[in-house]
Amino acid sequence: MGRCLQCGQCAQICPYNSITLRASFNPLTAGTPQVVPRRIPCRLCMRCPPVCPSGALAELEMEQVRMGRAQIDRNACYTWRGNIICRSCYETCPLKATAIVLEKALLPVITEYCAGCGVCEYVCPARCITTTPQRML
Ligand code: SF4
Ligand code: SF4
Ligand code: SF4
Repeated sequence: MGRCLQCGQCAQICPYNSITLRASFNPLTAGTPQVVPRRIPCRLCMRCPPVCPSGALAELEMEQVRMGRAQIDRNACYTWRGNIICRSCYETCPLKATAIVLEKALLPVITEYCAGCGVCEYVCPARCITTTPQRML
């Protein structure tokens, strides 16, 4: 986000309202875009990079995006605990079968190909997925 001009054009173009602009007293971070998955995740529609005037949002294929990384707390996941068979994260992931796979055709595992979009965190009924932004990894 080093090249971000804090212009907010990405937030304006996003059809899902996934992007909010950070509130901060620090002028270097105030107005920079962020996605808060539990509020609204990114759907990886890739409409924001072309409108970014500074190139801070690179024009990538969906598969190349690495805005963060999601992690499942297996101790709280319904399927890993054996409570019920839930596949919400797997079924809704835009990179299903790549970023998230099913171990033994059942247990969800997030892979190194996770884009960090946060859709899985948003849909998880157990609230056991956390997406960490790339800047904090
Ligand atoms: S890629 Fe994500 S943040 Fe960008 S416009 Fe699409 S949904 Fe919004
Ligand atoms: S595993 Fe979750 S955060 Fe990663 S790409 Fe799939 S839905 Fe997005
Ligand atoms: S959506 Fe949540 S509870 Fe369901 S399988 Fe995925 S991590 Fe487990």
